[in-house]
Amino acid sequence: MILPASPGASYRAHKQEIDEAVRRVNESGWYILGPEVEAFEAEFAAYIGVKHCVSVANGTDAIRIAVLAALPFRGAEGITVSMSATATVAALVEADWQPIMVDIDPHEYTLDPAALDSALTAPGMFVTPVHLYGQPARMDAIMKLADERSAIVIEDCAQAHGAVFGGKRVGSFGAAAAFSFYPTKNLGALGDGGAIVTDSDEIAGRARLSRMYGWRERYISETHGGNSRLDELQAAVLRVKLRHLDSDNARRIRIAETYNAAFADLDLTLPPTGGVYHQYTIRHPRRDLLRSRLAERGVSAAVLYPVPIHLQPAYADDPPLSLPVTEAFCRDLLCLPMYPELTDGEVNAVCEAVRECVRELR
Ligand SMILES: *Cc1c(COP(=O)(O)O)cnc(C)c1O
Repeated sequence: MILPASPGASYRAHKQEIDEAVRRVNESGWYILGPEVEAFEAEFAAYIGVKHCVSVANGTDAIRIAVLAALPFRGAEGITVSMSATATVAALVEADWQPIMVDIDPHEYTLDPAALDSALTAPGMFVTPVHLYGQPARMDAIMKLADERSAIVIEDCAQAHGAVFGGKRVGSFGAAAAFSFYPTKNLGALGDGGAIVTDSDEIAGRARLSRMYGWRERYISETHGGNSRLDELQAAVLRVKLRHLDSDNARRIRIAETYNAAFADLDLTLPPTGGVYHQYTIRHPRRDLLRSRLAERGVSAAVLYPVPIHLQPAYADDPPLSLPVTEAFCRDLLCLPMYPELTDGEVNAVCEAVRECVRELR
């Protein structure tokens, strides 16, 4: 079976370097907030093109802590999309902000600037665009609207490590940005991990206090803070993976180009171009049938996500909000296998299977 993603394949591809990094940490005897975390934070900040990186325990915490650090006041409204991982909205709720979910652009599946224009009505709001599937949101229009209305932008970059918009890496547009290093992400650890990146000394400083009991000095809590730390083992693994991120993303893009060429004459909707293909997502009106036919041919495709956040029991209004573009997309989207270690043979097998199944379903 060809799987949608394979974190094990990523380990095997870089096994020697990762094993060496793990051994180094084991033997150092230093397991929390030591030299590996410090080095990874410096390397990742430089890679994104910002001044600071503050690593934390996971991507959801990265969003929550970024929001708390960038907006030390509470309880107003934050605009984001419903077409995302539940984590995006869960993190805003955990930070005590009221999420306002708006619709996506029908072609790129990211925050629709026109929807943002209508929603951004009061002062003191903030905006969390999501670079879904590795596709950068329309940051030119989003930053322009946010600047005009004095709104703060906090990017959710959990699916877009290394993606570039207008010559700048995503994560360097907003006041702060959040990354996840969940194993299947474009930059994935061997467990949970996350990071906040920012150019602001104040936001970075507050995030550092927030991730460890409000400590600047050990055992002295200056502010309230919990525990959300990246450990040395994960940082050492991420330093290895970061060195391969650009070539891994280039391989994802080559696979996407192969898919695009193979599917050009088929009756289905191809994904937008320009991102780093965390997912390669097509649309087909008989999605569920196509998915089961592909599975019969040994190709496992995924649905990220089957239910938009505004219709999840935990977050649905009564009566539920209507976001037609998001809802239509959730009904017919399908994510094909996409990870850098797919062999050319596997990519061709996916192409063949999709071509056969789509023709049969005509
Ligand atoms: C994975 C993901 C998150 C959450 O990251 P975790 O590390 O799993 O907490 C947030 N937003 C998006 C868009 C994601 O894909």
